[in-house]
Amino acid sequence: SNMTSMQRLCVLGSTGSIGVNTLDVVSRNSGIEVFALTAHYNYQLMCQQCLAFKPKYAVMADEPTAKLLQEQLNTHDCKTQVLFGPQALCDVASASEVDVVMAAIVGAAGLAPTLAAVEQGKKILLANKEALVMSGRLFIEKVKQHNAILLPIDSEHNAIFQALPLDAHTPCYTKTLTEQGVSKILLTGSGGPFLTRALDTLADVTVEEAVSHPNWSMGQKISVDSATMMNKGLEFIEAKWMFNCQADDIEVIIHPQSIIHSMVQYQDGSVIAQMGNPDMRTPIAHALAFPNRIDAGVAPLDFSKLAQFSFCKPDFARYPNLKLAIDACADGQAATTTLNAANEVSVAAFLAKKIRFTDIYTINAAVLSALVCTEPNTLEEIMAIDFAARQSAEQLIARGLN
Ligand code: NAD
Ligand code: MG
Repeated sequence: SNMTSMQRLCVLGSTGSIGVNTLDVVSRNSGIEVFALTAHYNYQLMCQQCLAFKPKYAVMADEPTAKLLQEQLNTHDCKTQVLFGPQALCDVASASEVDVVMAAIVGAAGLAPTLAAVEQGKKILLANKEALVMSGRLFIEKVKQHNAILLPIDSEHNAIFQALPLDAHTPCYTKTLTEQGVSKILLTGSGGPFLTRALDTLADVTVEEAVSHPNWSMGQKISVDSATMMNKGLEFIEAKWMFNCQADDIEVIIHPQSIIHSMVQYQDGSVIAQMGNPDMRTPIAHALAFPNRIDAGVAPLDFSKLAQFSFCKPDFARYPNLKLAIDACADGQAATTTLNAANEVSVAAFLAKKIRFTDIYTINAAVLSALVCTEPNTLEEIMAIDFAARQSAEQLIARGLN
């Protein structure tokens, strides 16, 4: 194996798309020991994962689910200890035995355990982009203060990380892009399943259409976010914090093939792109082994089979959520926390077939425009803004958007 030394890993959200891919990479390489796995309600998959990886702890959402898992584990004589609830997530993520935490819970629920790991100076592999969108400044300050290491799993951010000068990152970026000779970060996105669909039919988009991404297989929430391009908006905000840059430094470019995962343009005109087949095991393996390289199980890119490589600018009439996020990024932390919370509620309502696809934007924009609050300085203030935005989005949905 190319791993420098044995690493003990905690996977937050092990039953999700990123979690499953992470365990696949772990199983292909020696040198990683699984200390803890966490999931919400999928105790059956968690049971299989416990049998395969023998973690010391497994954390589930609540007591009934924990009991169901415990019963299954007992029949297999598996010694994994089962815990439950939000505090247990923080406990396993910050345990002294843990070296590396894969933060792959979806949404705001992932923030507290990820911050708990940061506060113990862990190596954080960050998939949970919502954490940085909600708490960017606070999060990065804590990374520096506790000497944690922040490595990006989001494929775009992982690509940018690979294309930036290596020595600039300890424990996260403190130099500006200009100081690194960079002129622009080129954040690429496929445009999702509705890149060419007639605009006047977007209101009729079904859940099934929205979650079938052309290039990536992902969890439901991020799949809808990709269809609205809110995902690129959240990534825009994520990039600002992760790479210590300004909104003006980042440009979104549509690249429907998803082979280039993002690029860095330097002052001398050089552009460095990271490429590969769209498979999250590449960024996961990169971050797990960093600064070494290991096998990810990903098929090599065959350029002779690539029919075309194309690019265009995003159309904000098609993707109004992207514009909303870019504007919120310029506005500040209260705005990005609000937008993230509103979007979690509106996407859940769309997935539950309570609202139309285009209502996601209507709700997000309405909640954001009603925002009146000062910039949050603490986690408590951030959570209060998150709570208020959720309530306001839920009220709009309950009232039927009129
Ligand atoms: P997913 O829905 O497939 O999995 C989410 C995981 O989190 C599951 O294990 C689930 O049990 C757990 N979970 C959900 N709600 C929870 C809660 N309230 N408390 C505790 N655990 C909870 O999602 P995913 O696609 O794996 O995405 C995970 C994160 O990674 C998201 O933030 C997403 O934006 C990011 N991400 C995903 C991809 C991808 O390809 N899937 C790519 C880039 C970034
Ligand atoms: Mg991404």
